Amino acid sequence: MLTHWHNDHSAGAAFLKRTFGVRVYYDPGDKPFLTRITATQGLRGWLGKHVPEEGVLVLLRGLLEEAAPEAVTADHLVTDGEMIEGAFRVLATPGHTSGHVAYLHEPTRVLFCGDALAVVANRLRMMARPVTPDLPAARSSALRCLREYAEIICPGHRAPLTENVRQECRRLQGYLEAGGRWPLLG
Ligand SMILES: [Zn+2]
Repeated sequence: MLTHWHNDHSAGAAFLKRTFGVRVYYDPGDKPFLTRITATQGLRGWLGKHVPEEGVLVLLRGLLEEAAPEAVTADHLVTDGEMIEGAFRVLATPGHTSGHVAYLHEPTRVLFCGDALAVVANRLRMMARPVTPDLPAARSSALRCLREYAEIICPGHRAPLTENVRQECRRLQGYLEAGGRWPLLG
């Protein structure tokens, strides 16, 4: 269940599908990137391919090439609000990418929010502004996640938020609803 196309979130999908026959889910908004229709050619594309798959520069790999490193087709294109695999509700959360989605595991209320929210040292944050091309959409998407009353929040990066989750959600919700500015570094 892919939240978005960025290579640091999707690079293993084609391998997992090929090797284990897993079903792949993602939003149609990110399909051009995941099927590599958008892949840049020339120097940018060449540079992107040569960024190491591990380490701090990993995100550059996908961003330079503007596509996932290996094309992966979806077995199912998700739609907002639908239930998949019997337990995961799809939340359209665009902003970080146009087809970004989050998945809420309804039975346990664990929210897999991808890069719609960040967790740093047990605090909820936003992603950095340079990697948030559509700030108004990202703001609505963050609010949407915060209003789900999740028990646990699993972000796309770093450790999950497991303590004081309600309080943290209310704090960030209040800040965003009051028109709080989006910090440069999230
Ligand atoms: Zn991302």
